[in-house]
Amino acid sequence: MKTRIAVTGGKGGTGKSTVAVNLAVILALERNLVLADLDVECPNDHVLFKAELANKKPIETMLPFISYGKCTKCGVCARVCDTGAIIVTREGLPFVLPRLCSGCRACYYACPYDAIVEGRRIIGYTYATPISTGSSKFTLVTGMLREGEEHTPPAVIAAKRRAEEEPGDMLLIDTSAGTGSSVAIALEGSKLAIVVTEPTPLGLHDLSLILELLDMLGIEAWVVVNRTGIGSEDKIAEEAGRHNAEIAGRIPYSRLIVESYVSGRPIVEYRPQSPEASVFRSLASRLLEVIA
Ligand code: SF4
Ligand code: SF4
Repeated sequence: MKTRIAVTGGKGGTGKSTVAVNLAVILALERNLVLADLDVECPNDHVLFKAELANKKPIETMLPFISYGKCTKCGVCARVCDTGAIIVTREGLPFVLPRLCSGCRACYYACPYDAIVEGRRIIGYTYATPISTGSSKFTLVTGMLREGEEHTPPAVIAAKRRAEEEPGDMLLIDTSAGTGSSVAIALEGSKLAIVVTEPTPLGLHDLSLILELLDMLGIEAWVVVNRTGIGSEDKIAEEAGRHNAEIAGRIPYSRLIVESYVSGRPIVEYRPQSPEASVFRSLASRLLEVIA
């Protein structure tokens, strides 16, 4: 298994992907890196590199089919399905709603009359895109759910597995926002998590939730405060301290970073001598020390 470092953040829009792509560019100079974008509902790391996703593979899950010739209308399948994907008609016939099905197989195992057979359906795709920027070269693995699909965990698992299969010795994981099961799955096995937050009341609230999750998972946390200067950082520092998480970096609110988005080049490539880029360089060099 590769050494796993996660970049996460309870709140969306804090700049998590900015941190992940800039770290990836620097770390790839020293390590054989794979970057995994596991924000499967809205992956955007490739956008920050202006890269076309490549090497597409489908993500399949199990979809139950009812063999109505065998079905006795006992209703067991609908009762064990905890996503509400099986409805029962007035006549007692079970009917599967594919979009609500997580592919857990509970109905398949529970049916006493072997009236359920295993089908497959595609819920999304994984990609393995070669990234070459400046002197950095690495693979970006991206998980992407199909539009309208609701069950993120199978897509996160598939993309994480594909990232592990790519050649390399280090895996940098960009999780989705929040603290749900998909984030926990993405974080699992990480040596350290970089939590990106911002000095706002909502940033503080969500920081507290993600730090609690990391405590539960037994993963060391470093906090990076993005957009410093837009609010007080005292409470952020207090909350980080409560969870024994250090403040490992502060990124100023910056037009240069916005310009780097537009250029499709991470700031460490776009303006390597800027103070913003130096924050990422020192964070990366500390990370390399920790995982040496
Ligand atoms: S559990 Fe099997 S037999 Fe019972 S309603 Fe469902 S499919 Fe039909
Ligand atoms: S596989 Fe799981 S989620 Fe899908 S219908 Fe069966 S019990 Fe429900």
